[in-house]
Amino acid sequence: MVHVGLGYDVHPLVEGRKLVLGGVEIPHSLGLEGHSDADVLMHAITDALLGAVGEVDIGHLFPNTDPTWKNAPSRIFLEEAARRIAARGGRIVNVDASLAAERPKIFPHLAAMKVKVAEALGLPPTKVGIKATTNERLGFIGREEGIAAWAVAAVDLPE
Ligand code: MG
Repeated sequence: MVHVGLGYDVHPLVEGRKLVLGGVEIPHSLGLEGHSDADVLMHAITDALLGAVGEVDIGHLFPNTDPTWKNAPSRIFLEEAARRIAARGGRIVNVDASLAAERPKIFPHLAAMKVKVAEALGLPPTKVGIKATTNERLGFIGREEGIAAWAVAAVDLPE
């Protein structure tokens, strides 16, 4: 039986931080603020996977009050979601995600991001969709105050 999950995340853009999206460090004057590496895309995909199998969300699995996850690479969170799915006898069918960022241009990095996400999940990159759009200069994303990501996941579970 295929179960679907939905994930959403947002992080503020600040000076003095690296911009890491989908496990790829992207050259930019601003980076995302957060307890871990603040990889908003990997966080949204992690929550989509956890949601598909009815697990608690990423913020409860990896609290930002726990120093273990300070500046942690978010690949760890994806790997843990995949591990929990495998422990349930599940199989990830596919994941798909959209990023909303006014700047920088994300498109040149999408292929590398798909490879990183796929590696963390033990999937071929063809099972990972990642798209990017601007927010047409509207709202906090349009003012370059933050970047948001949405994701869905399909997981085949035995029961
Ligand atoms: Mg997050």
